[in-house]
Amino acid sequence: MSEKTDRTPVSVFASPGRYVQGRGALGRLGALISGLGSRRPLVLTDDVVRGLTEEVITESFEEAGLPLVFERFGGVPTSAEAERVARVIDEGGHDVVIGLGGGTAIDTAKASGDNSGVPWVSAATVASTDAPTSALSVIYTESGSFEAYRFYDRNPALVVVDTQYVAEAPVRFLSAGVGDAFATWIEARAVRRAHSQNMVEGLPTHAGSTLAELCWDLLWRSALPALEAVEKNLVTPDVEAVVEATTLLSGLGFESGGLAAAHAIHDGLTAVDRTHHLTHGEKVNIGSLTQLVLEGAPASEIDPFAEFTARAGLPTTLTEAGLGDADDAVLDEVVRAAMAPSETIHKLAFEPSHRDVRDALHAVEGIGRRARTRVGLGEPTPEDYT
Ligand SMILES: [Zn+2]
Repeated sequence: MSEKTDRTPVSVFASPGRYVQGRGALGRLGALISGLGSRRPLVLTDDVVRGLTEEVITESFEEAGLPLVFERFGGVPTSAEAERVARVIDEGGHDVVIGLGGGTAIDTAKASGDNSGVPWVSAATVASTDAPTSALSVIYTESGSFEAYRFYDRNPALVVVDTQYVAEAPVRFLSAGVGDAFATWIEARAVRRAHSQNMVEGLPTHAGSTLAELCWDLLWRSALPALEAVEKNLVTPDVEAVVEATTLLSGLGFESGGLAAAHAIHDGLTAVDRTHHLTHGEKVNIGSLTQLVLEGAPASEIDPFAEFTARAGLPTTLTEAGLGDADDAVLDEVVRAAMAPSETIHKLAFEPSHRDVRDALHAVEGIGRRARTRVGLGEPTPEDYT
């Protein structure tokens, strides 16, 4: 093989251009966008987030001398919605698209920016996923099932997270972010063990894996006091630490450290309608527990994890996911989707069988129930998440 065609694996690390987090950070959005050289940005958001942020953003754009144009986000990050927004960008001559709000608006901004060939910016008002940081979107079907990951050659040019908004949002959002972020190290560790590739077509760098582990450490230290603070709409150092974990470190860690079974199980769960009451991070937590079972993690690891995440308000049982009475046929549908050829479950160091994965899912029920009992939580029910 000549040197030119040699495909020796290389290590790859990806990151956004700049990351800005703190109380009132959204008030700096205009100046930061202007700093990117933009003269005609487009802000993609839904009516609820627009109502909450319009005053702050108007003032910030005025100060920066930028025109403010809002586009209403349709609610589901589908290919059709991304194409529609791309037409708005083209017709309006916009030079940057800002996804404002949560992961779905942000993922749609990335897809439409890529369609139009303009940079994209994430402006997060919740910390429910690591979408603001990454260079991929999760594309859903109109009915809300996982369709595909869409990869871009760039991360967001800028990420802004306003922790005051995070603290004022329902605590369930931050809890979901904790679920998404906990999976980061579980999966990055598996990818490193297997010498598999990360999400940016390279081997994980030490930075990628180490940031995933730092994410894990920060969550164990700060997640419970942070969730308690957000219940009271407070921004404390624990809240700042957990938002950094759920947004920056989880994003860098999953993308450059790699995904494995937890997110594949999440994707499998989206294939079944009765799990749709759960958010991304909540379904990911079922995925994390399933991966730990598949890996044969000792009870000394899996039990404290199940207890901690139950205390953090995350589902730890199939019952909470709406699958308490699910027969094998339903779980088979989940497993089939989780094991699709493109899925990241194949990045594990071993190749579990369909039956292995189904049995691991069944086993989560008992582990999760016992953990809930130990931390004094009652009978699990899907109604806790509606
Ligand atoms: Zn995720």
